[in-house]
Amino acid sequence: MPPTLYIVATPIGNLEDMTYRAVRILGEVDLIAAEDTRHSLKLLSHFGISRPMTSYFDHNQQFKGERILNALRQGKSVALISDAGTPCVSDPGYQLVRDAVAENITVIPIPGACAAMAALSASGLPTDTFTFAGFPPSRQGKRRSFLKEMAPLPGTLVLYEAPHRLEETLLDIREVMGERQIVVARELTKIYEELVRGSVSEVVESVSRGKVRGEVVILVAPGETMAQKCEPLADLLRQLMVNDKLSVKDAARKAANITGVSRNEAYGEALKLRTDLDL
Ligand code: SAM
Repeated sequence: MPPTLYIVATPIGNLEDMTYRAVRILGEVDLIAAEDTRHSLKLLSHFGISRPMTSYFDHNQQFKGERILNALRQGKSVALISDAGTPCVSDPGYQLVRDAVAENITVIPIPGACAAMAALSASGLPTDTFTFAGFPPSRQGKRRSFLKEMAPLPGTLVLYEAPHRLEETLLDIREVMGERQIVVARELTKIYEELVRGSVSEVVESVSRGKVRGEVVILVAPGETMAQKCEPLADLLRQLMVNDKLSVKDAARKAANITGVSRNEAYGEALKLRTDLDL
């Protein structure tokens, strides 16, 4: 094998989600760097894999990263795995990949399970555009500021959260983003897998009744799009032009003042309405 750093996804609960390729690569590399070697040993022995291992976790990243890079520089192949899912996704690995890339070392992803993607795919929320934002800050003030920044983004928002913070985070989502549709995907691929769907208040009710336990992904439906925001403009213009019998120009000026959209936009919409309504 040429010196290569493999980023290998492992199951997030169900061992059947291990890919054939992951098993082969892990069985072939010179070294496996694991977030928690004892935890990963169980997975590796399940698949009959026995290769030299080293730990690579948040607090030894700098020191261990250098040793792993040294192994790669010496022509060895290394596979990085985390406790569950795809390394580097809210898990250690980014710095190692960045440093390997800087040294022109080949980095190859071995794709597989990822809680965020699994949850999004089954959520029923829009998937064409989404933001994965990892774990929200644990302190309420910072969490609310973080959610404020996320609120206007288009598409579905995908968050990881610790089960004991789920309820307070959902309450902050309601406070900052309003009563959006959300999905809480818990224990994905495991026996008690469940996707709880509803408005934030409905899901909070399930959570506070102690119904949602275990690992969770939170998905928040997008807020109003610009097009949706413009609907009240059309309604208002219709009222001004049909009921109040204002001219296109006057209706546009008044609607722009009321809604805050530009006069040009209101004028364009009013012209369209005049044609549509045959006024
Ligand atoms: N790298 C992992 C991945 O690819 O999904 C994520 C690691 S992150 C440290 C752990 C978080 O992922 C959990 O707190 C939870 O939010 C989410 N997660 C992991 N496994 C899950 C599962 N089976 N069901 C729901 N969420 C899960």
